[in-house]
Amino acid sequence: MAKASEMNTITGKDVDFSRIRNQFPVLFSSVRGLPLAYLDNAATTQKPWAVINRMSEFDSAEYATVRRGAYRLAEQATQGFEDVRGKVALFLKANSPEEIVFTSGATMGVNLVAASWGRKFIGEGDEIILSHLEHHANILPWQMLAQEKGAVIKVIPVNDIGELDMEEFDRLLSNRTKLVAVTHVSNSIGTINPVQAICAKARAAGVVTLVDGAQAAPHMNIDVRKIGCDFYVLSAHKMYGPSGLGVLYGRKETLERTPPFLTGGDMIERVTFEKSTFVKPPHRFEAGTPAVTQVIGLGAAIDFLNSVGMERIERQEKKLLDYATELVSRIETVSIIGNARHKAAIISFTLADAHPHDVATILDSEGIAVRAGHHCAQPTMDRFCVAATTRASFSFYNTFEEVERLVEGIKQATDLFRG
Ligand code: PLP
Repeated sequence: MAKASEMNTITGKDVDFSRIRNQFPVLFSSVRGLPLAYLDNAATTQKPWAVINRMSEFDSAEYATVRRGAYRLAEQATQGFEDVRGKVALFLKANSPEEIVFTSGATMGVNLVAASWGRKFIGEGDEIILSHLEHHANILPWQMLAQEKGAVIKVIPVNDIGELDMEEFDRLLSNRTKLVAVTHVSNSIGTINPVQAICAKARAAGVVTLVDGAQAAPHMNIDVRKIGCDFYVLSAHKMYGPSGLGVLYGRKETLERTPPFLTGGDMIERVTFEKSTFVKPPHRFEAGTPAVTQVIGLGAAIDFLNSVGMERIERQEKKLLDYATELVSRIETVSIIGNARHKAAIISFTLADAHPHDVATILDSEGIAVRAGHHCAQPTMDRFCVAATTRASFSFYNTFEEVERLVEGIKQATDLFRG
């Protein structure tokens, strides 16, 4: 296997990722005198100068409220805001910008669908299929809805390597199923789910689908039409953009049948005390003043991702994952949780005799930032009979040296706990 230093700089047809890394200022900070190795990208990603500067420029010279002001500044801000809707539509290969709703995050996207579409179309005895790999954000809104309506939640099981049991999915899908809601990529163990196959089967059975794309959109080419889902949610802060912003993609026909979720300013046709009517999607779902600057920041993040290229990002992250998997799995005390054949660049592991939080603390003392806990996926942890794991999650801006530092840190933790 090539050394880390040989693997970082890939020139010629490919991209020099060390130059791309230079555009992320936080990555050059130090922790207790050691260079930061930021390996918590599944929780949130860092921002490049292009995003930081664009938001700052917008706030210093172009900021105004959108869709209300009749003056020049507001018109330009509205134009910029709506241009980003178009950019997101292209990024997700949606049919039109009207299928793109701005939310406050992936969590809000799922809650919106559950509280509006779900409350209208799901009734007593209806079934909702989830998978055993869901983030709590794609469990709890459905659980609340099921409790309110008397609906039933069914769960696609997961095998020992962390892949969904598709035969069992076929058995679960029935004429009682009203919705299938699955994650594209598991945030806790990295499995990439066969969402296209799941949505095709659901669609053939006349069932609506929601895909949680929070962990997929920053790392691979997304084509919502090819996936064939009705809804797709994501978070801007996991794709090098700002926090407090997300996107809900909704197939036009499905969004049009969906009643409003939050109500208030800027989503109405006519309001009287007796009765009100609402505008069409996407604005029907954007009550109140939106996160204007954040939307502009998301536009810059998408331009940035496009300039690097999603295929290149996917290839580089696969190399980082393969290198990390090879080195980490050689450590005898480590058990990697989740070894699916299709995986995003996430390594979740436990270390014999050590609590995941203690492992994370030891890694932190070496300047390495990883996450420890249940990763808001307690059912997944239960499936693998662990309460928590330590999770290293990579981005294209990570280096192969950082992978080696992680491995050295885990070895140190092993020695410490053995000692
Ligand atoms: N879905 C998945 C798979 C996630 O990983 C996360 C966040 O970690 C979410 C949903 C929730 O995203 P947010 O907290 O940005 O709303």
